Amino acid sequence: MRWGLIGGSDIAATRMVPAMRALGQPIAAVASSSAARAEAFADAHGIDSAATDVDDLLSRDDVDAVYISTTNHLHGPQTLAAAAAGKHVLCEKPVALDLPEAWSMVTACDRAGVVFGVNHHLPSHTTHTEIRRLVSAGAIGVPKSVRVFFAFELAPRLRGWRLTDPDLGGPVLDLMPHVGSVVNKLIGTPLGTAAMPVRQGSWDLPADPAGALPEDACMAAIRYEGEVLCQVDIGWSVPFARNGLEVHGTDGSLVARNVMRADPGGSVQLIAASGEREVAIARHRDAYEVTLETFARSVAGDGPPAISGLEGLRALAVALAVRESGQQRRAVTIGLDPVG
Ligand code: NDP
Repeated sequence: MRWGLIGGSDIAATRMVPAMRALGQPIAAVASSSAARAEAFADAHGIDSAATDVDDLLSRDDVDAVYISTTNHLHGPQTLAAAAAGKHVLCEKPVALDLPEAWSMVTACDRAGVVFGVNHHLPSHTTHTEIRRLVSAGAIGVPKSVRVFFAFELAPRLRGWRLTDPDLGGPVLDLMPHVGSVVNKLIGTPLGTAAMPVRQGSWDLPADPAGALPEDACMAAIRYEGEVLCQVDIGWSVPFARNGLEVHGTDGSLVARNVMRADPGGSVQLIAASGEREVAIARHRDAYEVTLETFARSVAGDGPPAISGLEGLRALAVALAVRESGQQRRAVTIGLDPVG
């Protein structure tokens, strides 16, 4: 599994390059729109080749797959270009900015016969995998409701486009796809949502941006198939909030703390008529490594990626419906039918 990196991003530097290295997956080249950034990234991470033209990277024989971690508006065109070049694609979330674009990416990768995964790491956490196993095994009976607590303080180094660009940023596009990736995999098909986004933080932004700013917090209710309800709290202005995931069913509840995060760890409690017990987790794996490992297996013909392009699309559909609901101040149906 030999990688080409499209994007000299923070997430590539802090999570994905270390994970690729830990797994012994070589990185042949990095592409950035700036020659200076590409070279600095290659130097900093011991990558032999730096490119400014994505097509140069895509034409390399020593690249089997690309990891795309550019800003969100480039995910679509770069995935289409990679598929056309016959490269497997692991793309960052949100997979695209709208559903027609996401469908075109899924279709293009299908037709090209390349694996298309989306880097939603949360479902690959050991805790999340165990929660899904317990729910499938009937440990809480029939699931009726889910609560996702995913509000925190945005790290200073990330206070750029996320806080200033309403088309690319805001936690609804940044965090809600992660929530969709978790709850869709756990519960099934999302049907509709009602959401309330606000701008509540006092941000000391580097430049004074003109025009509309994205929301920095949002609460939403999402209805799933089987009349399962999901309550979501996302945002960036509460430094001391604790994150968590709860699944409540007819025969029990799963209460997980500190599991909506990048690092491995956290706890899961099972509460039922017989009492409360801590779910034993022998070893917490790094979710990015699990994602990369599963992706490599998928390329070798062994099963799907951890989150497929289609699952990434369905996670995006949740986020877009939440955004539309917030903008229009009304409940919105979640569209999953092919469009475009
Ligand atoms: P960054 O802002 O760090 O990088 C995004 C792009 O911005 C880069 O590709 C780069 O463009 C450009 N860029 C980087 N540094 C500079 C700079 N100093 N000056 C000008 N431009 C710069 O983004 P993130 O790493 O935070 O996010 C990238 C993607 O990854 C997003 O889609 C995001 O949603 C996703 N993400 C996913 C996470 C996960 O856990 N799965 C976590 C965090 C982010 P170029 O490549 O042209 O150099």
